[in-house]
Amino acid sequence: MSKAEELAESQTRILIIDDERFNLTTLNELLKSEHKIMVAMSGKQGLKAALSGRPDLILLDINMPEMDGYEVCQQLKSDPLTRDIPVIFITALTDAADETRGLELGAADYITKPFNLSVVKARVRTQLRLKQQSDLLASLAFKDGLTGLNNRRAYDERLQIEWNRCKRSAEPLSLIMLDVDHFKLYNDSYGHALGDECLRKVAGSLAACTRRAADFVARYGGEEFVVLLPNTGLDDANRVAELIRASTEALGIEHKSSSVANTVTLSLGLVSRVPGDQVDLSGFAEVADTMLYKAKESGRNRVISSQL
Ligand code: GH3
Ligand code: MG
Ligand code: MG
Repeated sequence: MSKAEELAESQTRILIIDDERFNLTTLNELLKSEHKIMVAMSGKQGLKAALSGRPDLILLDINMPEMDGYEVCQQLKSDPLTRDIPVIFITALTDAADETRGLELGAADYITKPFNLSVVKARVRTQLRLKQQSDLLASLAFKDGLTGLNNRRAYDERLQIEWNRCKRSAEPLSLIMLDVDHFKLYNDSYGHALGDECLRKVAGSLAACTRRAADFVARYGGEEFVVLLPNTGLDDANRVAELIRASTEALGIEHKSSSVANTVTLSLGLVSRVPGDQVDLSGFAEVADTMLYKAKESGRNRVISSQL
């Protein structure tokens, strides 16, 4: 393996879930030189770590008190945020029926204890390589080519997921729709190539303003972007929106023909609510669009928000 490949692989994250410290230690020692290792000593802890740490691979023990590996796997596979993480069961159970059950639950592979260290290493490598390939395919299907942000398709999917999730947990969901001001004039003045460059800078600034793991930024189309803030109420979302507005202004990208300022600015529409039956998802998104329209109408370079 080349140095560059080694480095790339060292950035992969592996989560080990096992209630026995000895197993955790052995696997950690085996894999830590090439991967970033996270450990959890119970199923419950493991599920939490899978959500927050977004590992590339999970090594999962089956025999654990309270919640066993089968149940952990089932929960991982039923959550859209974790279902694509490959799971390798590592277990002392050797019965063909046990193995079948694990594979039927969506596990990628199955290794029996006592394990052979070089076999574990090789199988881990194989799963990580497959994961990299499917990540690459997903990035082609769900990323915007110009900015590297998520694309419209990824946004539509995530919006539905977060809406349902926030509905279940009775948490607020906030949505910001934003649009570059007088961007047609920008292209007319500076040319399409600089226009593209400007969109990339705005995209970078958006990504920098949204640091929480659950925050989601996408290019909606043209010079329009969306930001999804789960578990975030109106006040906090307003702060994020204002930060985005100010950050783009602070980029100081010259825009002489704009009637708003001498630099590139954004208009933002924000909607926030706890999802419920009174309003549906498309109604919710429409309000963000309406608020954006109001921001444009009332002078641009501003945030207009609505608590539904
Ligand atoms: P407003 O302040 O009301 O939003 O005015 P605007 O000029 O920004 O809005 P309008 O929708 O009239 O124009 C959007 C422009 O964005 C027109 C289009 O050529 C440009 N645009 C859309 N996508 C791209 C792109 O990928 N690259 C470049 N350079 N320009 C783009
Ligand atoms: Mg515009
Ligand atoms: Mg537009």
